[in-house]
Amino acid sequence: MAQGVLVFAEQVDGGFRKIAFEAVSEGRRLADTLGGTVTAVVLGSGVDGIAGELGKYGADKILVGDDPVLADYTTEAYTNVLCDVVRDNDPGILLLGASSQGKDLSARLAVRLGVGLAMDCIALKLDGGKLIATRPMYGGKVLAEVALQGPPQMTAIRPNVMEIEEVAKAGDVERVAVNTGVVRTRVVEKKLETGAKVDLTEADVIVSGGRGMGGPDFSVLEDLAEVLGGTVGASRSAVDEGWRPHSDQVGQTGKIVSPNLYIACGISGAIQHLAGMGSSKYIVAINKDPEAPVFKRADYGIVEDLFKAVPAITSELKRLRG
Ligand SMILES: Cc1cc2nc3c(=O)[nH]c(=O)nc-3n(C[C@H](O)[C@H](O)[C@H](O)COP(=O)(O)OP(=O)(O)OC[C@H]3O[C@@H](n4cnc5c(N)ncnc54)[C@H](O)[C@@H]3O)c2cc1C
Repeated sequence: MAQGVLVFAEQVDGGFRKIAFEAVSEGRRLADTLGGTVTAVVLGSGVDGIAGELGKYGADKILVGDDPVLADYTTEAYTNVLCDVVRDNDPGILLLGASSQGKDLSARLAVRLGVGLAMDCIALKLDGGKLIATRPMYGGKVLAEVALQGPPQMTAIRPNVMEIEEVAKAGDVERVAVNTGVVRTRVVEKKLETGAKVDLTEADVIVSGGRGMGGPDFSVLEDLAEVLGGTVGASRSAVDEGWRPHSDQVGQTGKIVSPNLYIACGISGAIQHLAGMGSSKYIVAINKDPEAPVFKRADYGIVEDLFKAVPAITSELKRLRG
């Protein structure tokens, strides 16, 4: 009988993404409620050394699929190997992160396994042993609670939403047989962003600018982000103007983010933007138009020219921090 929680733990270039710890922690909470175990799966090349780290977040067992073909993510190889692992282990619940990689992988895997998938979930609970997942729909206007067909009951959780908890468990590491199958794609080149910028989907604080920035000089936002230990994002208008790279875009056709604090500067609050940041824990809007729709969604609103308000906040924060 299908039982236990299986968690896919995403790593890139030999280091776990934050979502891996979030997914394992959430898996632990579910397993504790069910009285079951958590098995984490790590795929990659040369990843034996990092696998044990997942024990710290509640994994009873960690299965490692290690093969040079898995060094870079490809949909086919990862789906083939993970599908074998799922079939061999027959979990009751299967968790992945809804990162770019996780969205791609979970969709393909769900079809292969012939089960339902709740994508981009922001909360999970158990109701009589049945998994109920909460997911935003219609650009975040509606929160749907969905039950899943399984086994396994399969969900992909939104990055930066579930709490990371350290609950030390055995974390026994085991190698699994790897059959990557036919892989028709290969990674030819990777272009990494330069600089130490935190990925928007993992950031705790985001200071975003929109068309109200009036040009490519985002230095006032960068200064505030630096004081807050955050990172800079943008609306699509700012990206379309060529002021920021697409990787900074927040929204329906950009990144879905859930920081603790989202500061929207010179952003009107179009539904497509709100779809990307509506699940932030605290939203602060700075806009000179008191009628801007963003204020309806904001926890705190400042009606002011951003070029006055943002430097004032930055200097006050600097003063408070000595
Ligand atoms: C299919 C589709 C997908 C889309 N996907 C996305 C997406 O992923 N992300 C996204 O952001 N948008 C997306 N959009 C675009 C979206 O509809 C809006 O056009 C866009 O979000 C508007 O960006 P903005 O708020 O920066 O600009 P505007 O709507 O032009 O707003 C600028 C705001 O700045 C304020 N302002 C101006 N000067 C100042 C100042 N000095 N100080 C303070 N405030 C000032 C103005 O009052 C105004 O409210 C999408 C649209 C479509 C149709």
